[in-house]
Amino acid sequence: MDKIYGNYELRATLEAMAANDRAPHAVLFYGDRGTGRQKLAYYFMELLLCEKLTEDFKPCGTCRSCKVGSISHPDVYLVPTSGKLGGYSVDTARFICNDAFIKPNNSSGKKFYLFTNCQSIDPRTQNMLLKLIEEPPDYAYFFFTSLSKTDFLPTIISRCACFAVSECSEDEAREALVTKHVSPEDADAAVSCFHGNIGRCFDFVYDERLRKNVDLTKRFTNSIINRDEYALTNDVYELGGQREDVRTTLGLLDMLMRDAAVIGKDDSARAVGCYRDGAVRLSRCITASQAIRVHMAIEKAWRAVEANVNIPFVLTTLCSDIMRII
Ligand SMILES: [Zn+2]
Repeated sequence: MDKIYGNYELRATLEAMAANDRAPHAVLFYGDRGTGRQKLAYYFMELLLCEKLTEDFKPCGTCRSCKVGSISHPDVYLVPTSGKLGGYSVDTARFICNDAFIKPNNSSGKKFYLFTNCQSIDPRTQNMLLKLIEEPPDYAYFFFTSLSKTDFLPTIISRCACFAVSECSEDEAREALVTKHVSPEDADAAVSCFHGNIGRCFDFVYDERLRKNVDLTKRFTNSIINRDEYALTNDVYELGGQREDVRTTLGLLDMLMRDAAVIGKDDSARAVGCYRDGAVRLSRCITASQAIRVHMAIEKAWRAVEANVNIPFVLTTLCSDIMRII
């Protein structure tokens, strides 16, 4: 498996659980997209499947089970999604409820079910899985990855060991990029936008659409700083009507507002958004309370998009709301 960066305490906890044979049967890895939730889930599987852990309780790295993240492994079932939104259906849950009681026919004697990106997992699916997670067979493990614990019903969460996955340091993110043959210049540009979130840094390097959304977010910010409604409306027009672009760009703009509010109070504060210089300049021309009101206007706009209100109408309203606030 590729090197894992950051999350040292979490990794030590997983290693101790594997070494002491005290692994929980239902586990949730939650955190922002790109932080490596799935990678850590595979790491935990490696720890539990490895034929010979090292003396400091790490996977040996050479046995067949230590490649669980890069090859299809007979003991690991990557649960398939279905439907337009890529959710987990009740039928899938029903299949797993039956399949889990078929004893594994393999050398490890274990079976893993991995549910990734559970942000919109159907409550009916969760209810169907509940009994199984409550009283699982000794050999079965259920791993979930998601943005937040709140994506799940409290009944599921109370039966899972929940682990928060965080970004690594910017230096580590830069190292991860350069190791994978990204040029130092591109790595610097990616890290300045997405900091220690390695997955998003890679997206920035290879996904032209994301770079365009970052660029638009910067232009929005400059138009807000210049209080230029005409430019802001033009930028919005360029954003277009694709939901995914709107979601990404509004999310990035929202983080900038957060940065402006925080940097306004403490100009050495760390930025989480994609445009620290912009956030610094913004913090000089709007107050924290204005930034919070813009944040609320962005949230209102996103809720309207989710409710299928016409996107150009929502964005035009957002522009006039922002101009009114600042
Ligand atoms: Zn191994």
